[in-house]
Amino acid sequence: MGRKKAVSGIMLRLRKEYPEFRTALHYRSDFELLVAAILSAQSTDAHVNKVTPGLFGKYRSVKDYADAPLEELQKDLSSINFYRTKAKNIQNSARAVIEQFHSRVPKSMAELTSLPGIARKTANVLLSGLYGINEGIAVDTHVKRLAYRLGLTREEDPVKVEADLMSITPREEWGDLSHLLIFHGRKVCHAKKPEHSKCVLYDICPSRDI
Ligand code: SF4
Repeated sequence: MGRKKAVSGIMLRLRKEYPEFRTALHYRSDFELLVAAILSAQSTDAHVNKVTPGLFGKYRSVKDYADAPLEELQKDLSSINFYRTKAKNIQNSARAVIEQFHSRVPKSMAELTSLPGIARKTANVLLSGLYGINEGIAVDTHVKRLAYRLGLTREEDPVKVEADLMSITPREEWGDLSHLLIFHGRKVCHAKKPEHSKCVLYDICPSRDI
């Protein structure tokens, strides 16, 4: 089976399996998704979702993050990995969003990746989640692992994996493909001990015997 046909079949099955497949991060505004996305690097969405209700209750606007004493913001994030750097990036992003983008999270890859703490993967999450814009495919550890196991790429570098996936998936599906692979990676195709017997992709997966 060609890779284009394979990805289309995989998405069809995963959409049925995970009808609720959109981003698992909780947020109420564009800047709150940016904050949650920065916090989620090297952390789990479930843990971020435990921290953000208190955080979003205290910091209610972009300006609140920009004006907060850094030590206080760091303290409020201290249960998250790399909280010192993340707090700095959130505060500097808030300042840049206010000064350069009229307090709105920008809508292009170039503008987003100019913000501190926002690399291409996070920018893809924000563009797709906030604006329905597909500029690329967010490749996190789940997407990278599943794309490889499912035979959609032979690459290991996330930028090359992204290019491979973009070349075989219709553009309007890019955001959804990332979410679907992330859901399946979390629930069934774990890094250690993937649960092949529970997998809806078992019969078409080249890695079902690993
Ligand atoms: S069959 Fe196994 S390796 Fe393949 S996608 Fe399913 S869980 Fe992952």
